[in-house]
Parts: sequence; structure tokens; C-alpha cells
Amino acid sequence: MYSTLTHLECTSCGTIHAANTLQTVCTNCGKVLYARYDLAAARATMTKEALAQRPFTLWRYHEVLPVGDPALVFTLGEGGTPLLPVPRFGEAIGLPRLLAKDEGGNPTGSFKARGMAVAIARAKELGARAVATPSAGNAASAMAAYAARAGLPAYVFMPQDAPTIMQAECVAYGAHVYLVDGLINDAGKIVRENSAERGWFDVSTLKEPYRAEGKKTMGYELAEQLGWTLPDAIIYPTGGGTGIVGMWKAFAEMEEMGLIGPKRPKMICVQSIGCAPIVEAFNRGERHAPLFANAQTLAPGIRVPVAIGDYLILDALRESGGTALTVTDDEILAATREVAASDGLYASPEAAATFVAARKLAASGFLGGDERVIVFDTGAGLKHTELIALDLPILDPHSPAVGAQIA
Ligand SMILES: *Cc1c(COP(=O)(O)O)cnc(C)c1O
Ligand SMILES: [Zn+2]
Repeated sequence: MYSTLTHLECTSCGTIHAANTLQTVCTNCGKVLYARYDLAAARATMTKEALAQRPFTLWRYHEVLPVGDPALVFTLGEGGTPLLPVPRFGEAIGLPRLLAKDEGGNPTGSFKARGMAVAIARAKELGARAVATPSAGNAASAMAAYAARAGLPAYVFMPQDAPTIMQAECVAYGAHVYLVDGLINDAGKIVRENSAERGWFDVSTLKEPYRAEGKKTMGYELAEQLGWTLPDAIIYPTGGGTGIVGMWKAFAEMEEMGLIGPKRPKMICVQSIGCAPIVEAFNRGERHAPLFANAQTLAPGIRVPVAIGDYLILDALRESGGTALTVTDDEILAATREVAASDGLYASPEAAATFVAARKLAASGFLGGDERVIVFDTGAGLKHTELIALDLPILDPHSPAVGAQIA
């Protein structure tokens, strides 16, 4: 069996939903639906030995992914990203075992490709005629690419200040692109209000069950790359939280399949001080995070003022003994250049936030120098030319002073 998907289950009220038809959120309570699998069947064929023979893309975990027909796997090469040491920066902050899961090499330059590869394939399989999403930028370009690959019309709604490269990608992929005077939640309202009438399938973060399935493969990959162990801590730049809750789900599945033991990493959420709904709810001891007013940060992927999966994120942080913290935009900008120059990793601003968080948590003693800490380098810095101020001199090769200029 290519997929062992059996049904969908509400993460809040437990209501079971059929998996063989397009579903969005729980029809009973409106919360997030999770895909469930016949893990006993999956473990019979998805063994460590079998996995070692498969190509290193996220589809190697196909038994625990929802797509039933391999012909509908519209791959662009998603997943299978490197886990890289960050020796100089790690040493400098007192975390010599620091590793970066470098997601920037995914198609469309961010880990959004994982979620969209799976969600678009499954939407196509279940008969969707067009797909739509609100996005800070990366989800839009990933959706547009996979929709093009699947032959589905794509409608994307982005804040007007979404990075221009991401807007350009969507145009290139032939999507219908709309800019919105507002943030991702304002864009989300437009998608919500128009989807039924216009026949779009809405693939907003955690408002359909399968993007999280694509992103959970980061958890499988991590375990496999670490010899079927998990790290001591994972620092994740949290917007809608798909990746953090997806990995948390993956760990439970892997344990049930006998691939790993019960040990879990401390799950750590980092947000910008200008948009920190999850951090504030964590600090208040609450399970839900109200809309964060006047959200502002230069890191678009974490400029998400409200998240439908807030309770799933907060549960994972607490159950794992993790934490949540903020960083400033200035710290993000400085870290982008610092890590690029020290270790050759040009991170997106969201990813740079995880490096700042690692430094803060090492300084406070929350993370120890002997711990194996993973930062999630969720996107490529290449998509963010707007963040590096350039004022480079032009050499005059005919000037007798050119040597002095170079020195
Ligand atoms: C979307 C995005 C995030 C946030 O991811 P979630 O799983 O939605 O929390 C972080 N970094 C980048 C580069 C993103 O595009
Ligand atoms: Zn429910």
C-alpha cells in the first residue's frame, strides 16, 4: 500500500471524518483535523532498512503520507535537506553541537514546499478544481509551483509588502496574484469568503489536514539523519505552527511504529517581539492565543497574528519541556549577516531568529553546552535581498589608486 491513510480525526473534540473526500476543519467544532494511518501496516514496509534504499525526498515516507496514487506525486524534489553543523557560530555561543536543518534548498526556497507538495497532490487526488491560499509569501510561491505542476489554477492573496521575489515567483508560475492591504489574516478572510462560491479549495495553514503531513516529514528526516535518535532541543520560527505541530505528530507516529523511543526534544518557539501571540500565551499559561494587535516584523513568515493551531503548538511546547521567546528585528538582521559570514549559511530572517534564540537560551542556561540543538533554517536568504543594505564602491580600474582602494 502506497499510503496507509485511514481517516481524519479532530484534534479538539475527536470527531472522526472521512479521508476520501475534501475536508477542511472539523465539521463539529471548527478545529484542526489530523490525518490518521494504519501504523501497524505502515511499519511492516517502512522499516529502517527499506528507507535506507529509497531516494532522499519526503516521499520516502509515503506510507505515512496521504497520497494514495503514486502517479499523483508531482515532485519538484522537495525534502531530503541537509542537517549541517554550524561550528563557528555554535562555538561562539557555547553550543558546539549546534546543527541547522537547512530547508532553503527546497523547491521555491523554503520548507513551505513540503506542505504544498503533499496538500496539492492530495487535493488533486480528491477532485479539487482550483486551489487558493492567503500567504505571507513563501506559502504562495510554493502553492503556485505545485499547482502549476498538478495543472490546477492557483489563487494567492498576499500582503502588499510581501517580498517582491515571492510575488514574482507566483506570477511566473501563472498564479492569479492579489495583493491585500493588510496581513495574512486579512488575506485569509478574503479566501474564506470566496472559496465556496468560486470553487477554490482553501489550503490555508492547518485549515486542511495535509500541509501538516508534508511538514511532519522534517521530523522523520531529523530522526533518520541522527541515526534514529532525536536531538535535545529544536528551535523553530513559529508562524502558523504547521512545522512544529507536524514534527510533534511525527514523533508520536515514529514511536508507535517502533522507529524511536519515548525521548522527545524540548520544542522551542521563537517569534518576533512585534508579533508574538504564541510567546505571550505561553508566558500567561494559556492554551489559546488571541489576535496580536498591530503585528509588525520584517520576517514575513512569522508575521502571523493569529493561529488556528495555537493549542497544538502550546501543548507541544509544554509537553516537551520547551519554551517560547521573542527576538527583535535588529537582532534578526545582525544574525543574518553574522551566520552567513561565520558559517556560510545565508538564512531567511525567520531562520535567523532561531540563531538569535539559540544564543539567548545558551546564555540563560536553558540550553547546555553538551546538548544537541537543532535550529530550523526554514528558508533561503536569497529570497530577501531587501534586508541587506548595499552601498558598495565601484572601482575605477584606470585609477592609479586602485591598489589602495582594494586594500
Ligand atoms: C511560513 C514560514 C515560517 C513559519 O512556519 P509555520 O510552520 O507556519 O509556523 C517560518 N519560516 C519561513 C521561511 C516561512 O516561510
Ligand atoms: Zn472537533
